[in-house]
Amino acid sequence: MNHTQLPLRSSRNTLEGRRLLVIGAGGLGCAVLAALADSGAVLVLADDDRVDLSNLHRQILYRQDSVGRDKLDEAKRALVSLGVEEQRIELVRSRFLPDNARSLAASVDLVLEGADNYATKFLTADACYLERRPVVHGAAVRFVSTVLFSAPGARPCYRCLFEDVPPGAQQNCAEAGVLGPLVGFAGALMADFALRALASDEPLAGKLVSYSALEDELREITVSENPACPLCGKNPQISRIEETRYTAPSCAA
Ligand SMILES: [Zn+2]
Repeated sequence: MNHTQLPLRSSRNTLEGRRLLVIGAGGLGCAVLAALADSGAVLVLADDDRVDLSNLHRQILYRQDSVGRDKLDEAKRALVSLGVEEQRIELVRSRFLPDNARSLAASVDLVLEGADNYATKFLTADACYLERRPVVHGAAVRFVSTVLFSAPGARPCYRCLFEDVPPGAQQNCAEAGVLGPLVGFAGALMADFALRALASDEPLAGKLVSYSALEDELREITVSENPACPLCGKNPQISRIEETRYTAPSCAA
């Protein structure tokens, strides 16, 4: 199916029989889940955090009385109220970690990564590459949101763009802050990429969309593959998940 043939009035059952892993039930995860609620896919949610009052402005599945409760329980409640059957919601009460990354990635058809830290973003990229799963990476920090699609068996990957944790990246999203609507924008775009990747034949490998609210600028680029990429390059150094590679304390919404 061509991208232009995707249903416009509803995405209901467009992804029937597919399984999607949503890493992080924060702002990006909430927006992704709301946008894919009627897609028919099985939604697998991985998180171990609780709802915090300071995040309510961007975590649209939660309410004031969700504060202090498990995000997964509150996300499930909200999804059921949106019409998602309980059997289409699977809760993984853990963060995406080196010891569960590959098995979780292998258990789904596509991964949506809305983590708030670089370590998890790199772990997602590596696990998805090794398990040959498509992955949509999302990020929103301060006034900029960015979404990148990486296809299985096709270059480039996340590490072609960000080889490793950027220097000075210790500031986390809670410290940096983020404009709430930008998170919703990025999450909706992540969901759109998932629909296009699984329900159309549109080539998306390496497509990156970035929006800056400061400059009112929406940019789309295709990321170039990096021949020296440690994951997908000519002489890759990453062929398995080693826990020590993902201990950097940095963060990126
Ligand atoms: Zn690469």
